[in-house]
Amino acid sequence: MADPKEMFRPDDALLVVDVQNDFCPGGALPIEQGDEVVAALNPWIDAAQKQRIPVFLTRDWHPTGHPSFAANGGSWPVHCLQDTYGADLHSGLLIPKNVEIVTKGTRFDQDQLSVFDQTGLAEKLRADGIRRLWVGGLALDVCVLATVLDGCREGFEVRLLLSGCRPVTEEGGRESLEKMRQAGAVIIE
Ligand SMILES: [Zn+2]
Repeated sequence: MADPKEMFRPDDALLVVDVQNDFCPGGALPIEQGDEVVAALNPWIDAAQKQRIPVFLTRDWHPTGHPSFAANGGSWPVHCLQDTYGADLHSGLLIPKNVEIVTKGTRFDQDQLSVFDQTGLAEKLRADGIRRLWVGGLALDVCVLATVLDGCREGFEVRLLLSGCRPVTEEGGRESLEKMRQAGAVIIE
């Protein structure tokens, strides 16, 4: 198992994707064992904070009429409504002092699965001299997948923290890892 204290380089950033109540057991769109990523990711957040590695916590943050909801033609139940408990980050998640929150899924015309989709994050990371990304969160086969593929496409080295992810489906998780490897990401077991 990789030791977070020994893994970071000065040009790294940590991305923690959508660790929100609605994606955890009891939420509106629960992922099996989704809450277990909290204990897996906290040591990475802690180590990043101590080494002054920037940490980005992302959140799905939907308006009531969001196009990803089934009632509006999408594939998902209503989830992560803005300013609701379901959209809050899991309360066990370590929120570091140097945190940046990235908000996505706010558009009325399309969903944004990837943290890089029209958020300006890639530009900011490049401006800050970041070259490598460590990524974990929810769900492995949806927003984490889209984020890792976009991160590779944007020219970053990407490391996936597998113990800090859970998939919607096992099969989707397996396929996602294969797609990530093909895109050049390194899977950290
Ligand atoms: Zn969503």
